[in-house]
Amino acid sequence: MQYQERKAQANLGKHVTYHQESCPKATQDVHENTKNRNWTIDNFGYGPMNPDFPSDEFWEKKADIFNTSIEEAKSTRCGNCAAFDQTWKVMCCIGKGIGTDEEPYVDPRKVIMKANIGYCQLFKFKCAGDRTCDAWVHGGPITDECLPQKEYNQEGSNEYVMEQVNG
Ligand code: SF4
Repeated sequence: MQYQERKAQANLGKHVTYHQESCPKATQDVHENTKNRNWTIDNFGYGPMNPDFPSDEFWEKKADIFNTSIEEAKSTRCGNCAAFDQTWKVMCCIGKGIGTDEEPYVDPRKVIMKANIGYCQLFKFKCAGDRTCDAWVHGGPITDECLPQKEYNQEGSNEYVMEQVNG
């Protein structure tokens, strides 16, 4: 296992078989990811840019779509969208895409956890759990609880290890 793969450990405490060729392109290519993200901003109102800001106008627009309250609109986030993929396989891909061989080494686990990153299966980019878009789908996120674990736990040459982040 290469050093950056170790550095690219995503989270929690399981061994996962990682197959780079099966990773979504946007998890490995920042230009592809940004292109798809920007398209989603323009066409489906992905945002807000900084979820820590009040962004009143943004949330008012979201509330207007469903003719509901801003409070309810704010409860609809990527983090609980049914298109938000946080399965082991995808998290390994995201970690691999963030990892680097060059110093200073980046620990992708911290990036992933700070931003609560997942992969949007509708628009094919890495999205942040605190953002949202007009196509939000109730019932998410996608996790391994609804997928067979066996596929990701087989030993292989591209084994990839996900470990608990401490701090
Ligand atoms: S479809 Fe869901 S996961 Fe994708 S950007 Fe919209 S809210 Fe986020």
